Amino acid sequence: MNKYTKITASIGPKCEDKKTLSAMISAGVNMCRLNFSHDTGDVQGKKIDLIREISRELNTPVAVMIDLQGPKHRIGNFKTEDKYPLTIGQKFVFDTDPTPGDETRVQLPDADVLGSLRVGDRILLNDGKIEMQVDSASADRVEATVVRGTEIWSRRGFNLPDTEIATSVLTKKDRADLEYAITKNPDYVAISFVQKPEDVAEVRDFITQRTSHPIKIIAKIERPNAVARITDIAAAADGIMIARGDLAVEVPYAEVPAISRHIIRECRKMNKPVIVATQMLGSMVNSEFPTRAEITDVANAAYLRADSTMTSEETTIGINPLNAIETMSNILSYADGDAIANPYDWSRVENIPENDWSRSVASMAYLNKASAIVVFARDTVAVSEISCRKPDIPVIAVCNESVIANQLCLLRGVFPIYDNELFGMRDGFNAARRFNINMGKLVIVDEEKISLRTLD
Ligand code: PEP
Repeated sequence: MNKYTKITASIGPKCEDKKTLSAMISAGVNMCRLNFSHDTGDVQGKKIDLIREISRELNTPVAVMIDLQGPKHRIGNFKTEDKYPLTIGQKFVFDTDPTPGDETRVQLPDADVLGSLRVGDRILLNDGKIEMQVDSASADRVEATVVRGTEIWSRRGFNLPDTEIATSVLTKKDRADLEYAITKNPDYVAISFVQKPEDVAEVRDFITQRTSHPIKIIAKIERPNAVARITDIAAAADGIMIARGDLAVEVPYAEVPAISRHIIRECRKMNKPVIVATQMLGSMVNSEFPTRAEITDVANAAYLRADSTMTSEETTIGINPLNAIETMSNILSYADGDAIANPYDWSRVENIPENDWSRSVASMAYLNKASAIVVFARDTVAVSEISCRKPDIPVIAVCNESVIANQLCLLRGVFPIYDNELFGMRDGFNAARRFNINMGKLVIVDEEKISLRTLD
């Protein structure tokens, strides 16, 4: 039980067979991410069914998070599929004309996006390899100067780091994907390119108008305006993903570690789980071993007490997804164990929401050197209030609803059990024994009642 930091694994072609996925879950995956930028509809639905089946067979709660593509923007087509040369200092035009582009201009298909650009804004294309700066802007034509880059070609993705983009956070495709996904009762929905708290509210409305299933929302932070509004966005969402892939295109890459630390601290203050994502073990797409830098990156997320690290291509298209998970699990177990070996008084942590109730639970556990806290959890509230103190002992959550157990999988140091009988009998001793805790004291939390019991 050394691994307190959770693992979110992106599921793709290399790990969606039952044998690999079961082995990955046994090796430490707590949440499966299904990226709707790739497959959609029933193809993803079947993966959700498989995850649920494995979870039942292993008797282990596993969360399912669907990740919507969001408004990822692309330029239009060029006259041929060739690459068109660019020269630094040259002018380049984006307009609404669907005529195929050339070395002087191309269509920017979404008129609302074009209309959002202002003089001085940067346009970054092809993962930031091309940079242009806007010289003049009108509703249907933007002229820019090339600052970086040597060639441009059809359908390149682009990022607008300085621009407040006036489109809905849900594209037509996202609405169709979400409409479908909702029928499969996912535990979490992640929204891409969030800019403001209202984006989260829009998705919440969309969901609550269609289902009473308590789906939680993760806001992906990948735009500078979202970083600036992190407190309000975290307040509106149920959790945050630091989406370092697009974030490192939209902000200067040197700022990404500082922004990540800041977001992790803010999330802790607001009692919201946080996932650190992208390229954590990137080299393992092609290698059986992580780099030293990757080992340190994963460990640092654990030392900062993030709730979860995430794999992307390492597990979707990598040469050995199971090895990537085992590697991540090993690194996290060591780092979490090391952090626990240097204890701090987590009953008195500062900068978290003031809450007398969770302070009483924490003080009782800390002062009595309890082996674990067992919570009988009808919802996620009490457990998350305890978890946000980042205790150095396990929080065992006994749940009578699978969705609650699944959602609690994401929280650092929380070990959920979905078992109606255990819940009904309020059997805290047996709950602890399931995790091989056979000695010491337990703090047992049952609604308002907090008690200290000795395991025998
Ligand atoms: C990211 O940009 O880091 C990310 C997780 O989003 P996606 O993989 O959907 O681009």
